[in-house]
Amino acid sequence: MRNVDLRSDTVTLPTPAMRQAMYQAEVGDDVYGEDPTVQKLENLGAQLMGKEAGLLVVSGTMGNQVSILAHTDRGDELICEAESHIFYYEVAGMAVIAGVQARQVTGRRGILSAEMIQQAIRPQDIHQPSSRLICLENSHNRAGGTCYTQSQLRDIQMVAAQNGIRVHMDGARIFNAAAAQKIPVGEIARCVDTVQFCLSKGLGAPMGSLVVGSREFIDKARRYRKMLGGGMRQAGIIAAAGIVALTTMADRLTEDHGHARILAEALANQGYSIDLAAVETNIVIFERQGDVPAFIAQLRQHGIQANQFGEHRVRMVTHYGIAREDIDYTVSILAKLAKR
Ligand SMILES: *Cc1c(COP(=O)(O)O)cnc(C)c1O
Repeated sequence: MRNVDLRSDTVTLPTPAMRQAMYQAEVGDDVYGEDPTVQKLENLGAQLMGKEAGLLVVSGTMGNQVSILAHTDRGDELICEAESHIFYYEVAGMAVIAGVQARQVTGRRGILSAEMIQQAIRPQDIHQPSSRLICLENSHNRAGGTCYTQSQLRDIQMVAAQNGIRVHMDGARIFNAAAAQKIPVGEIARCVDTVQFCLSKGLGAPMGSLVVGSREFIDKARRYRKMLGGGMRQAGIIAAAGIVALTTMADRLTEDHGHARILAEALANQGYSIDLAAVETNIVIFERQGDVPAFIAQLRQHGIQANQFGEHRVRMVTHYGIAREDIDYTVSILAKLAKR
């Protein structure tokens, strides 16, 4: 039977070129700063993002958490979108690990405006926590892969500068955001102080994320990575795949976006409830009334895997393991299951 796994772009398997690079990787003890392949990856990531330095971490979650630790002090407040990964899916790490609290702001399709952020910034008042960090998610997962425009980012950058607040981007899928807008990732990264981005999602590496920012910030983040147990030894094995991911996998993301578009428009035509304007990248979220677990199980019987994403919401994510024929097949099955 056909296997069309649309649960997430994290299910992507390493490419043959990645396996080859991992096999041949030159390695050393990275905690001693002696792994040349890790250093190459960190420098490459920093260079692509136009930042001074980079840091390889185990996961996107660890990348966000070391960033929050390095940017804040206990008792500070960070401003984030109400459905952001940092708030929604990181096991309350910001509260437990960094000791900061979240000021959640509901964005428009997950996107915060400079005005929304301005209103959430605390005045100097002995009763109130200090607003210390703004976290932006780009593309926004729970909102369906929506992206910040450059002008939105520049406005936020201005508000942040006026208030002396740093901006961190959870750019788990920043390469998707860049591809959708046909701009280099560095243009996006230029508008923020620090970025976390995943190698293990659309770019297809087996694991790992990079954090980039100033040299001073990365030195701090590196200490926190060690504290959290993320100091790795011959990590060049992983970094080698990351280098292949960064150098060869970003340009093809537009193909995934095209597939998501076909899927989304077919869903709309078949009568499913979907916000087509939110489908900017590789994520497709639609509504399904009635028993969603039963619907997901029906899809699975046809070899299609999708994630429930809320009581009446289903998420499908396209990636390099999904070919055009898989999309056509999925569309045909969805047509069968559509309620007329
Ligand atoms: C996946 C994801 C993360 C976390 O990455 P992990 O490697 O799964 O820890 C962070 N932010 C966003 C927006 C994500 O989609």
